[in-house]
Amino acid sequence: MDAAEFRRRGKEMVDLIADYLENIEQRPVYPDVEPGYLRSLIPEEAPEEPDTYEDVVKDIERVIMPGVTHWHSPYFYAYFPTANSFPAMLADMLSGAIGCIGFSWAASPACTELETVMMDWLGKMLKLPEDFIAGTHGQGGGVIQGTASEATLVALLAARSRAVRMILASDPQRPETGITSKLVAYSSDQAHCSVERAGMIAGVRMKKIPTEQSDKYAVQGETLRRMIQEDKAAGLIPFYFCATLGTTPSCAFDHITELGPICNAEKIWMHIDAAYAGSSFICPEFRPLLNGIEFADSFNFNPHKWLLVNFDCSTMWVRKRSDLIGAFKMDPLYLKHDHQDSVCSTNPNPLIPLCLTLSPPLPQTTSQHWQIPLGRRFRSLKMWFVFRMYGLKGLQDYIRKHVELAKEFESLVRADQRFEISADVVLGLVCFRLKGSNEVNETLLKRINNGRKIHLVPCQLSGQFVLRFAVCARTTESRHIREAWRLITQLAEEVMQELPH
Ligand code: PLP
Repeated sequence: MDAAEFRRRGKEMVDLIADYLENIEQRPVYPDVEPGYLRSLIPEEAPEEPDTYEDVVKDIERVIMPGVTHWHSPYFYAYFPTANSFPAMLADMLSGAIGCIGFSWAASPACTELETVMMDWLGKMLKLPEDFIAGTHGQGGGVIQGTASEATLVALLAARSRAVRMILASDPQRPETGITSKLVAYSSDQAHCSVERAGMIAGVRMKKIPTEQSDKYAVQGETLRRMIQEDKAAGLIPFYFCATLGTTPSCAFDHITELGPICNAEKIWMHIDAAYAGSSFICPEFRPLLNGIEFADSFNFNPHKWLLVNFDCSTMWVRKRSDLIGAFKMDPLYLKHDHQDSVCSTNPNPLIPLCLTLSPPLPQTTSQHWQIPLGRRFRSLKMWFVFRMYGLKGLQDYIRKHVELAKEFESLVRADQRFEISADVVLGLVCFRLKGSNEVNETLLKRINNGRKIHLVPCQLSGQFVLRFAVCARTTESRHIREAWRLITQLAEEVMQELPH
């Protein structure tokens, strides 16, 4: 394909994408295929001779679409949203075309610098404390990670490294393995499974802190304090706590104003996972949910969930970048560049020993020490396009609309005596169930999903099987919510006639 054909095909592809998204609600939201469906539809080997572009495009409907779950259908209410907007898609095309690997400033200066500035823009939209903003005299800053799971792991590894360094500073003779075997991390029993997994990957104990329905599934300070004391008495070393703002099952919020001071006093790294809810903090009315951020060592959320920036874009800030970079710094000769020191000498990056001065603050000159992979895409272009083309106001309107739609669904549920709401509706997630047995609710969900008109997933809350209704697509309107509810009540009627409840 040469540039002339690319121009033509590119325009056709944009039309195909626009058609797909404009007509998406006519497709069954959930695919009707069995595992392995695709293998039989395409050859066992890559073609020896090139296929034509027409052949490839024809196969999109034949091979791909039958197996697509349409996350951007207004009838998709499962999991949490994944973002999708036209400005972000256009920026992604440009990012693909530039195709740089931005591991250091020299590897593509615009990639490193735009990311630093976008992270500051977003940090300011969230009213983060200055400590987290790179373009200030604080010692922190932000970086784009691929996913919230990576951010949790990176924070955990940095916390582990900081804990070991602190202990060795006071007891240099102590063997490092003896320290790591005693480390203990904490998270809520409502935390995302990626937190527990981070503990497994890092090879540290991860304890789940029990929560109660009566406390709205939030971790209580007293419970954390007690567990820390018990573990210290048993010779363990508490070093990391992952708080969640907006848990996956029910969108519960840990009390970080209460938990943060405990962590700070105990020198425990507090990471905040706000993967879904974080986007809402750009609205002043939801910003109080982030109060207590000043106690955190790191904070992460996914603009790729709810801020119209297509996957992947998971934004992470640290209060003290030396804690992060100190954990992952490697400087092989082939990654060094001329501006490493000169930028540092005016940009006091306290992580790099050559930096001597403290003003004025400048962009990071490298991202390679902030993450696990070396390579990184030019993801900040998506943020730049979206932030400029929606403006803060447009983004706030978008969040508010989803919350209003969730409230509308909540009212429909509350108005029907057969159903109950299972957790407070704070943002765009409604947890609800038929009053009755788990079996009745499981059957209802199965019927809903088998119909393929709408798609929901369940969760467990206090031993109860609960249906989660998350407002997800950019194009969801009130009529979709009402239609979804009509379908749910129709199926509920059937299920209740068939099963004792
Ligand atoms: N944390 C929370 C609270 C989540 O809800 C999710 C996913 O929904 C994750 C982490 C994982 O996000 P990611 O896929 O970006 O790793």
